[in-house]
Amino acid sequence: MKSINDFSFTFQKELSGLYDPRECDSLFRIVIEDVTEFSSAKIKAFPESELTVVQSDAINNILDELKTGKPIQYILGYAEFYGLRFNVNPSVLIPRPETEELVEWVISSVGSLKSAGGSILDIGTGSGCIGISLKKNLSEFDVTALDISAAALWTAKENAEINQVNLNFILADILNLKSEIENPKRQTPLEHLEKTTNSEKFEIIVSNPPYVTLHDKAQMHQNVTDFEPHTALFVPEDDPLIFYKAIADFASKNLESGGLLFFEINESYGEQIVNLLTDKSFKNIELRKDMSDRDRMIRAMF
Ligand code: GLN
Repeated sequence: MKSINDFSFTFQKELSGLYDPRECDSLFRIVIEDVTEFSSAKIKAFPESELTVVQSDAINNILDELKTGKPIQYILGYAEFYGLRFNVNPSVLIPRPETEELVEWVISSVGSLKSAGGSILDIGTGSGCIGISLKKNLSEFDVTALDISAAALWTAKENAEINQVNLNFILADILNLKSEIENPKRQTPLEHLEKTTNSEKFEIIVSNPPYVTLHDKAQMHQNVTDFEPHTALFVPEDDPLIFYKAIADFASKNLESGGLLFFEINESYGEQIVNLLTDKSFKNIELRKDMSDRDRMIRAMF
């Protein structure tokens, strides 16, 4: 019989080629908690606890998958974001902590809007983590989540149900918005995903679009590049701001005057995105760093 402690050593040994010791320890804790349903306090306090054969087998199976570089969130099928649980699969990006900071910024900014409610649009919603955590905390707003991927939208819809909130869902390509929304072929597989933007404008538009260039890709961990959806991550090297331009254009037509646009950004393009927004007549543009001190998000008023 293996104890919790035995697995701590196994994780350090088996995963040392892929993760540093701190990451191995964090993976070990996540897996033990998931399989045993012990609290993290219990795992710390009783490292000699013996595990059942069924539990040990389950841990070994997860360890085998981890050794292929597959992210733990895809193996377990969920991730935590903004205190909520989200189902994830390889059709959606795994929610990142820096995106929680963007959500926090949106929530703390609503006081400056003219109206006490209204509509929010999340462009490129993926798992739905931004839109759903906003709806959960700003229930007076109508939230619409848009994505180019039907599989992502189904995941977002499932996550809205898990977290007991109602959102509107739109299947569309923000780079080619009109034609995609009007294309009936694209709509059919999603007949249950309602499309409701009316012609009303939004108080808030938020987006964490793809922003990773080939240059950044070379520095990224293999478990991101090999497993996460490339449509959610990568942009053409010769037009890295393609999504920011399209979304800023869309926002300038679809935001209320005094409405707010929020972006998560690539740390290398802060100044360029500020300039782009200035050219498109946005005001009060603010660039913020994330907890790792990298330029990571922008807020602009229309
Ligand atoms: N922050 C993510 C990463 O570096 C990228 C997110 C995005 O492209 N929108 O993996």
